[in-house]
Amino acid sequence: MQIIESSTMYDVIIVGSGAGGGMATKVLSEAGLKVAVVEAGPFFDPKDPKQQTQFKWPYESPRRGASTVRDFGEFDMALGGWNIEGEPYTQKNGSKFAWFRSRMLGGRTNHWGRISLRFSERDFKHRSLDGLGEDWPIGYSDVKPYYDRVDKLIGVFGSKEGLENEPDGFFLPAPKPRLHELYYMDGAKKSGVPVIPSRMSMVTKKVNKDRGICVYCGQCGRSCQYYADFSSGSCLIFPAQANGGQIDLFVNSMVREVTTNDEGKATGVLYINKEDRKEYRLKGKVVVMAASACSSARILLNSKSKQHPGGLGNSSGLIGKYLHDSTGASRGGFIPAMMDRKIYNEDGVGGMHVYSPWWLDNKKLDFPRGYHIEVWGGLGMPNYGFGFNPNSINEMIGEDVGGYGDGLRDDVKRYYGSTLGFGGRGESIALESNYCEIDPTQVDEFGIPVLRFNYQWTDHERYQAKHMHETFEEIIHNMGGTVFGDAPGKDQDYGLNKPGEIIHEVGTTRMGNDPKRSVVNKFEQMHDVENVFIVDAGPFVSQADKNPTWTILALAWRTSDYIVEQLKQQNI
Ligand SMILES: Cc1cc2nc3c(=O)[nH]c(=O)nc-3n(C[C@H](O)[C@H](O)[C@H](O)COP(=O)(O)OP(=O)(O)OC[C@H]3O[C@@H](n4cnc5c(N)ncnc54)[C@H](O)[C@@H]3O)c2cc1C
Ligand code: SF4
Repeated sequence: MQIIESSTMYDVIIVGSGAGGGMATKVLSEAGLKVAVVEAGPFFDPKDPKQQTQFKWPYESPRRGASTVRDFGEFDMALGGWNIEGEPYTQKNGSKFAWFRSRMLGGRTNHWGRISLRFSERDFKHRSLDGLGEDWPIGYSDVKPYYDRVDKLIGVFGSKEGLENEPDGFFLPAPKPRLHELYYMDGAKKSGVPVIPSRMSMVTKKVNKDRGICVYCGQCGRSCQYYADFSSGSCLIFPAQANGGQIDLFVNSMVREVTTNDEGKATGVLYINKEDRKEYRLKGKVVVMAASACSSARILLNSKSKQHPGGLGNSSGLIGKYLHDSTGASRGGFIPAMMDRKIYNEDGVGGMHVYSPWWLDNKKLDFPRGYHIEVWGGLGMPNYGFGFNPNSINEMIGEDVGGYGDGLRDDVKRYYGSTLGFGGRGESIALESNYCEIDPTQVDEFGIPVLRFNYQWTDHERYQAKHMHETFEEIIHNMGGTVFGDAPGKDQDYGLNKPGEIIHEVGTTRMGNDPKRSVVNKFEQMHDVENVFIVDAGPFVSQADKNPTWTILALAWRTSDYIVEQLKQQNI
C-alpha cells in the first residue's frame, strides 16, 4: 500500500486527545513546541449547536432518551461505547473484559463522571503496607505539585477535610446536598460511614475567561456548552489553540503503529485516515502515547521491528500485562419517607454532591484495599429507561401491580424521588496474569490486529463486592428503606461488576525503576525507547480506591514538563 508522507517534522506527535493527550497538547504547545495530535474520532465541540445534546427534551428522541446507539442513553456524549462497529476485541479463557472506548476529540472526558480525586501517599506505596502488588517508583510528594496545578487550572469543587487518605486540594465551593443525599448522610452516619462533599471538576465559580460557570443542569454526561465541566477539548486543547499554540489536529485518524529507525528510536507514526482509508506517515522527534491504557498497549504491541521484535519498548514482555480496573458493585432501595415528595427543581451538577471515602482498617477485613461510595437519586429529568419502575415498588410494598392512565401517573408521582442507590468503586490488585495482547488472527476494519483480553477476578475483589452489598443494605435499612432485590451470592461473584465495566482500566505499561519489571520509568518514558512517553493510565502501578483521571492529568503534566526539559538539554 502506498504511504502518504508529510514533509513536516513535528517536535512532538501525540496519539489520542483524551485526558492525557489533552494535557500534553496544552503543556507542550504552550512551551513553544510544534505539536501534531492524531485522534481516531471526529472533531467535537460541545458549543457547536449541531453537535449539542445538552438541554434536549426526552421527547426529542425517538425512544424518549433511552439508548439507541449510545450505551448511556440517546443524549450521552460518548461517540463509541462498549462495542464499536468495525473495531472488535476478543477474549481468552472465558474472560469477560468489557472495553469502553470513546472515539472523538476529547475522548471519554466528554462524558465522564468528573469525580476528581487525588491518590494519597498510601496509594503509591501499598505493597510496603500489605505486601500485594508493587509500589510506585514515585510518591505523593512527586505528584502533589501537579495535582495542585491541575486543581487551579481546571477547577474542582470540594472541601478541606484533612483526611490522610483523601489529600485536600484547591477547592471551589461545593454544591449543597439534596434531599436524598441528606437521607444518605443520616443513614451512613448510623453505620459509622463518613460522608463528605464530592470532589468533582465542574466549576462553581469563575476560573478564567474561557470557561462559564455551572448552571446546575445536571447534564454533564452530554458535555457542557458553557465549558463549565472538564472536558479535554474545551478546557485544554481549544485554550491551547487560542493561546497561539502550533497544534495540527488530525481527526478521524487511526494510528496503526509507531515507526522506528535503525537505532530503534521512534521516528513518527503511521495512521489510517478514516475518510479516504489511505495510510499516512507523520514524522516527529518525540512520540507521546495517550490513546488510553489498552489502545496504547495495542499500538505499541503492533509496532514490531528488528530492534523491537515483541513490540515497541517491550523487552520486558510486560506491555499489556497488569491490566486492572476498579472493582464495582451497586445496589438501590426505596425510601418510604421520601414518597409523595413536593416536586421542585433540585438539579445540581451532573453527579453526586456528597460521597463516602474509604473509612475502614483492612486488618479487620477479609479483603485488601478499599472502596469509596458514590450516591445517586433525586428528582432528575424522567427519561425512558433511566428512572424507576413504579410497579416493582407497588409489589414491594404490597400494593396493586399494573395500571395505566391516571393510576400509573399517580404511582409515578408518588414514587418520584423516593429511590436512591450506591455504587462502590474500589481497588483491585494488579496481576501479571490479567492482560491484553494482540489477537493472532483477527483484525479490525482498517486491517489492524485487535486486542484479546485475559482477565479473572480473585477473591480479594469478590469479598470487597460482598462487603459493598452488606454496607449498602445496612445504610438503606438505617434510612427506613427497603433494598431492591436480594444480595447477589457467590455464584454471581457477590455482584462484582465484570472487569472493565467501571471504565477505569489502567496498568498496561506500568512504571518502575527496573526495566525488566516495568515498561516506563518514573517520568513515563519508555525504558527501551527514550523518545516515547506514555501519558494515559497505562503507567499506573496500582489503581487506588480513587477514580484515575485526576492522576492521569497530573502525571501527563509532569511528564510534559520533563519532555520540554529533555528536549532543551538535547537528551532526546
Ligand atoms: C461513563 C464514564 C464515567 C467515568 N467517570 C469517571 C470519573 O468520574 N472519574 C474519573 O477519574 N474517571 C472516570 N472515567 C474514566 C475516564 O474517562 C478515563 O480515565 C479517562 O478519560 C482516560 O483518559 P485517557 O486520556 O487515557 O483516554 P481517553 O479519554 O479514552 O482518550 C483516548 C483517546 O485516544 C483516541 N485513540 C484511541 N486509539 C487511537 C488510535 N489508534 N489512534 C488515534 N487515536 C486513538 C480515542 O479516540 C480517544 O479520543 C469515566 C469513564 C466513563 C466512560
Ligand atoms: S451541570 Fe453544570 S457543568 Fe454540568 S453540563 Fe450542566 S451547566 Fe455544565
